[in-house]
Amino acid sequence: KNKEGLRKIFNENKIDAVINFAGFKAVGESVEKPLMYYENNLFGMITLLEVMKEFNVKNIVFSSSATVYGVSEKVPFVETDPMGEVTNPYGRTKVIIEHILMDLAKSDNTWNIIALRYFNPLGAHESGRIGEDPNGIPNNLSPYITQVAVGKLEKLHIFGNDYDTPDGTCIRDFIHVNDLAAGHSAALNYLFNNENLGFDAINLGSEKGYSVLEILSNFEKAVGKEIPYVIDGRRAGDIAVCYADASKAKKLLNWEAKYTIEDMCRDSWNWQKKNPNGFKD
Ligand code: UDP
Repeated sequence: KNKEGLRKIFNENKIDAVINFAGFKAVGESVEKPLMYYENNLFGMITLLEVMKEFNVKNIVFSSSATVYGVSEKVPFVETDPMGEVTNPYGRTKVIIEHILMDLAKSDNTWNIIALRYFNPLGAHESGRIGEDPNGIPNNLSPYITQVAVGKLEKLHIFGNDYDTPDGTCIRDFIHVNDLAAGHSAALNYLFNNENLGFDAINLGSEKGYSVLEILSNFEKAVGKEIPYVIDGRRAGDIAVCYADASKAKKLLNWEAKYTIEDMCRDSWNWQKKNPNGFKD
């Protein structure tokens, strides 16, 4: 958001491409603080694009999300599906930014822009030294589970078991963070090896759906003990089933998810076990 600061960075470095990871990402927080989300995510992106344009750097990868598909019930989600009715400000910033990027590419065909639509990132680096350390009570499933397993939280609250799925809990497409990272390298290579791409949106997912209870039982195996839980009511805005068609990433980026759900749970737990207080230690 700091234009002068960005200009300084672009002046002092030779920059070929930018990946924007600077968005806020907590759905619940965005409902409570919509202006903070619009201000950070939209102004941040617009300022960055303006400075990139000034310096004629026109390769960018943007962290988008499967949330842009909205409340659709048609799975798997394919990039040709329309962006849907999104139920929270966080998701709306992703949709708005994708539109901004499309408009920009239409106005000037020398931009190369890829929006990577992440499904549900899980896992940690296998060294156990880089992992997820959310502020406060975790919003997402996996840090909540590992914090219960490590004794920081009492029990997992499962948001609804009355969905139209085999065990009644929601189904999501989990992707190992290392696969996600590899997807970004692949996207950069694609930008560098092609010209005048304009805008493209690409799913990064495993194409496999696991239910919340299946994730819990995979974590129990990784941890080696039972993880207490209760069933609560549905969380507002959740859809029953979400998983990716990732054939476009395979075709264009030569990328596909390699890690299994067992790898993801093992690596998340390894990180949490070694770092019960996250990065604070
Ligand atoms: N979930 C849950 N308890 C939690 C956090 C999440 O039951 O403490 C469920 C949530 O309702 C959803 C799934 O786990 O069905 C994945 O939620 P998460 O917030 O991790 O990712 P999302 O799919 O919303 O991006």
